[in-house]
Amino acid sequence: MALPEINAICTTCRTPFCGRPTRSFLGFQKLTCPAGHRVLYPLTRGYRIAYWVLIALIGVRIVAIAASGHIAVPGILGILIIIGLVSDRKIRKQVAALTPAQSKTGGPQPRPQQPLRSDRPGSPTGLSNRGGENQRRSALPG
Ligand SMILES: [Zn+2]
Repeated sequence: MALPEINAICTTCRTPFCGRPTRSFLGFQKLTCPAGHRVLYPLTRGYRIAYWVLIALIGVRIVAIAASGHIAVPGILGILIIIGLVSDRKIRKQVAALTPAQSKTGGPQPRPQQPLRSDRPGSPTGLSNRGGENQRRSALPG
């Protein structure tokens, strides 16, 4: 089953791009950014739901086996699903934190605010006085 194209952001160079992902081993969406970086995107909804259903079934079975006095282990499938869900969570967090390198809207960009130091050879007290004045001015209401 081919996956639909998605709008992705490269996790390495943060370039926004549109690509058709392929499935990785555990069902993650694999993409390649225009610069050639490999990008991993989270599970699709269907996979995530299937994983949670399976983990619930395995959990019920483990509880049932444990209740009958035996030692229950999740098995390879259960371990793989747990790894898949944990990685999915990590990738989703990572993807959610991504922001494109250049935004068209020109949003607020963090500008380093540094006081001009070298243009005046005067005393440093003048500079600190100015800073104090600024603070006082901003503290006034209105
Ligand atoms: Zn890239």
